[in-house]
Amino acid sequence: MSCDYEALAARGVQGLSPYQPGKPIEEVAREIGLDPANIIKLASNENPLGPSEQALAAIREAFPEVTRYPDGNGFHLKQKLAERLGVGSDCLTLGNGSNDVLEIVARAFAEPGTEVVYSEHAFAIYPIVTQAIGATGVQVPAVDWGHDLYAMADAVTERTRVVFVANPNNPTGTVVEKEGVYRFLKRIPENVIVVLDEAYCEYLQGPEYADGVQWLSEFPNLIVSRTFSKAWGLSGLRVGYGISSPEIADVINRVRQPFNTGVLAQAAATAVLDDHAYLERAIEVNRAGLEQLRDGFGRLGLDVVPSVANFVAVDTGRDANEVHNALMREGVIVRPIGAYGMPRHLRVSVGLESENRRCLDAMEKVLS
Ligand SMILES: *Cc1c(COP(=O)(O)O)cnc(C)c1O
Repeated sequence: MSCDYEALAARGVQGLSPYQPGKPIEEVAREIGLDPANIIKLASNENPLGPSEQALAAIREAFPEVTRYPDGNGFHLKQKLAERLGVGSDCLTLGNGSNDVLEIVARAFAEPGTEVVYSEHAFAIYPIVTQAIGATGVQVPAVDWGHDLYAMADAVTERTRVVFVANPNNPTGTVVEKEGVYRFLKRIPENVIVVLDEAYCEYLQGPEYADGVQWLSEFPNLIVSRTFSKAWGLSGLRVGYGISSPEIADVINRVRQPFNTGVLAQAAATAVLDDHAYLERAIEVNRAGLEQLRDGFGRLGLDVVPSVANFVAVDTGRDANEVHNALMREGVIVRPIGAYGMPRHLRVSVGLESENRRCLDAMEKVLS
């Protein structure tokens, strides 16, 4: 007796390709037969500094609490976030990473027969969650590897429920400046949810960049999503959050799993928000590393997409999968992004100075 379980799956799920994460160091060590200590990973846009001491201390202190369910409402974390952001706690939705928030939004507002708009070369989670719920994805062609917000606003129809905008975008590192985002928001009807995914916002220093939170009162259809995974250095704990009107927060919190952020995650995230020195160091290391990678790849004659985030997409001029495999044999893990419509590019996360140098040296060797 046998059953075709793929045929049994929901229609949207049948054709779904799973998200391809960066390869963990342990896995590459097993596959290539290298010592894990000799492998560097610049493949998942993680903070190369390691965790904040203040976050670690908070985790140690919270250890005994793991026998209890977490506070499903995340009281302390929400309170601290609300204070910093200047919004009410009732505007916040916590997520198991901000990926969770993105999925919750799609599930709360889209359904079969409705459309979800996102850009070409944009973050892979948008098409995945859209397809999984059976809604129709509308992919808008990019300009200069980045979002074309004019065309995205034009793509909105009466069937559109959600528009995802990654600003800056992953895997390209491109950004739309404040004025452009504002004009875009003005053009989107109130009954269409706009998600401004600001996973890398902490790296954006300058008045030309948008901070979506400032527009929440003007645009009640806006949801800003942020995360502790990138600049805050807590990818492994899985904490992110959405900021929106209380009305939208109420709707999406109905879909949220009741205990989607754990005891240790809440404790660490709450504590790290006070570690200003850590964040400043992260921003500075990233600024210097971006420059190092951009210049280094330039010297190798490789084009890099101008990036404001903590990674660069570099054009290898050939099938990037082969370069990726060769780099892996040198103990350097980066990310091929063919699945994002960029088959010649590799995405390289900014590491420590020594890691960036090692990546550049390996690239030079592999390409020669
Ligand atoms: C990394 C990333 C996220 C969030 O990841 P989480 O770890 O789930 O918070 C969201 N959006 C973009 C564009 C990202 O690059």
